[in-house]
Amino acid sequence: MIKRLLFVLLASATAVSAQTTAFGTKATANAAETTATTPATKGSAKALEEEVDNTVVITPFRSLTPPEAKTSRTFQLSKVNKLGFTETSKELQRLYSAFATQRIIDGSPSGSSKATGYLATVNYAIVQDLGDNRFLAKAAWPAAGPNDVLAAGADTMAVLLLEKPAKVGDTGKITGMHVGTVALLFTATYPPLVGKRLTLRREAFVECATLEDSPAGLQKFVEAVNAGAEMSATTNEQISCKKCGGLGFTREAEKGKLLDKRIPCAECVSGKVIISVETKFAP
Ligand SMILES: [Zn+2]
Repeated sequence: MIKRLLFVLLASATAVSAQTTAFGTKATANAAETTATTPATKGSAKALEEEVDNTVVITPFRSLTPPEAKTSRTFQLSKVNKLGFTETSKELQRLYSAFATQRIIDGSPSGSSKATGYLATVNYAIVQDLGDNRFLAKAAWPAAGPNDVLAAGADTMAVLLLEKPAKVGDTGKITGMHVGTVALLFTATYPPLVGKRLTLRREAFVECATLEDSPAGLQKFVEAVNAGAEMSATTNEQISCKKCGGLGFTREAEKGKLLDKRIPCAECVSGKVIISVETKFAP
């Protein structure tokens, strides 16, 4: 499903080489024609000028940075709220909420798949229709991923693949999955660049729907894990810094002094480090 979405976004990619070649050939032909028709009337020269190349070519430029967890742990459903175990129903709810926002509803047998890119709420205003529900839009989204791998956008041009047709000037809000940076070759139709053939490198988002974070959804999730489905959620967790042992500083003996010198730890904030953890669920 995700591959299909990507394919739709980059639909013209396979035709790129053919089109480039065709365009190159066409350009040569036009040049020859222009030379041949130079002495002719202004009318025919004008007709040539009006021939605008409106093809849109979107190609991957920089692949997406998939969410990557530093460590992993297992959450066992059978231990929830049992004495002596850390698994609690509150923790299960928190992890399920994270799980729900990291899954995309699709046509797969389980009804959803793990998102391969960061999901963000994208506010947009459409600037140009690129065809096939692909749009160039002014967009805004919050930073996402560990250490904000996907930087926030504010009034930033982005390429969007929307679920439904839209028109220039439309504004809206979607849940978008970041699918990387693409190179967009197109002819601008918005001022002040009208008629200009441009290549822009922009972040691309595919509109999608995430699982609903509801008691019914949690129930279904628990049933799926108990039936053997492999599920996991990635969350940012605060842990004690290993380098300084959670103190926030390291000690260094100073000659002639009774007390050690305290050096602030460079790897943490007050002894705490935030890392990305993948939690795998087990029955
Ligand atoms: Zn530290």
